[in-house]
Amino acid sequence: MDDCKNIWNELLIGISNNISTVSYDMWFNSLEPLTVAYNKLIIVAKLKSTKQTIINNYRNLILDEIKKLNYSYINDFVIITPDEISVYENQIQQSKKENSVENQDSKSFFNSDFVFDKFVVGQSNQVVYAAAKAVANQPGTLHNPLFIYGGVGLGKTHIMHAIGNEILKTNKKAKIIYCTTEQFVNDFIDSIKNNKDNEQNRRFREKYRNVDILMLDDIQFLAGKTGTQEALFHTFNDLYQFKKQIVLSSDRHPKELTFLEERLQSRFASGLTVDISTPDLETRIAILQKKAFYKNFNLPIEVVYFIAEKIDSNIRELEGALQKVIFYCQLLGKEPDNIDIIKEALKDDIDVSTHILSLDTIVDATCSYFNVKKQDIIGKKKLKPIVNARQIAIYLIYDMLGVPLATIGSYFGGKDHTTIIYARDKIEELIKTDNLIANQVKDIKNMIQKR
Ligand code: ADP
Ligand code: MG
Repeated sequence: MDDCKNIWNELLIGISNNISTVSYDMWFNSLEPLTVAYNKLIIVAKLKSTKQTIINNYRNLILDEIKKLNYSYINDFVIITPDEISVYENQIQQSKKENSVENQDSKSFFNSDFVFDKFVVGQSNQVVYAAAKAVANQPGTLHNPLFIYGGVGLGKTHIMHAIGNEILKTNKKAKIIYCTTEQFVNDFIDSIKNNKDNEQNRRFREKYRNVDILMLDDIQFLAGKTGTQEALFHTFNDLYQFKKQIVLSSDRHPKELTFLEERLQSRFASGLTVDISTPDLETRIAILQKKAFYKNFNLPIEVVYFIAEKIDSNIRELEGALQKVIFYCQLLGKEPDNIDIIKEALKDDIDVSTHILSLDTIVDATCSYFNVKKQDIIGKKKLKPIVNARQIAIYLIYDMLGVPLATIGSYFGGKDHTTIIYARDKIEELIKTDNLIANQVKDIKNMIQKR
């Protein structure tokens, strides 16, 4: 958006009316607008200190002025330093794509955030992901119906929207209905409210049977709705007969939907039934990283690990925690660069009272034991004592925390997982054959456990 300069100039007028000339010259003169992405005006400050001052002292003023300008596509701003521009570049490109005109019609129908690309695949959901992709590529032929079940906040709705978004990408005219079971029930009730009104009835039938794909979310809410179940039975048969794709989701397996008429239950289970379960630590870490990335928020791996470790049941809660951390940091103008800030932000959500053994704790202890610098150990230096300390730290992190290899890799400055495996295996072997190493590892462990 090239008019961001104009917007910025307009904003500056409002800002200059509210602060002294000295402050204005000192803090605002050197700022440059970069672009608008995800409804935020991105501003570049040459110095970190300027950025911090703006966040600490002028955030509300700028927000007020943004509000006054009343642009529908800007409701916030982000201030970055030149070295952060590259981090934002990807997202800026992405945002431009999403805002382009050709995407407009599909956007209105499905949540544009719920796409396959933004769905992190792990052991807990890989089958669902593969099945959903297959359905999106060849609707109505392979898996019909596709029945997805699993607990709350695990991605069922996301994956259904992803199917819709994906199909619309290649076929903008595809007739797809996604609706919650509640909506379906309400529509059905409306259609029979007035028995004499055949028009309503016809509209209901047409709406749901004239489609290429019907997706019904959370069908456990059909409990006790026998009329709607009957209507769904007929809708199902019609669609199925004409090889139209049906996708259903529920919190439990079709067999456990005991309140359903048997004929409906068996129809639901007649295609492919797949379950989505609670994500493992590695997947939770990847999800948090992805979400933070899309929110333009820089989370150190140490902090990601901490949150993912603590919140282990539900992805919606994981997202909620991230949102809270972002909010907290923006409010106080702080960077999320250490666990204490995160603990404070999440004190109502997680148990922070217990002593937390973190990657930092282990690395700090190893550094002080070998008397090496932390920046060297997590860096690239190849000097023997540093490599030795680094490999022992890697081994200890794996052994004591069970942190995924990829996470350890990013903590140590982006090393790939083969390097991490090599270090871990080497120390594991040495402990058996080399007394000195065995004792060093034991000493550091003792140090850590006494903290
Ligand atoms: P459900 O419908 O199963 O209750 P949702 O689909 O609403 O859950 O997911 C809850 C939140 O978690 C959404 O914001 C969704 O984007 C996110 N989410 C779930 N699974 C994943 C995943 N594998 N990768 C990324 N985000 C996910
Ligand atoms: Mg849902």
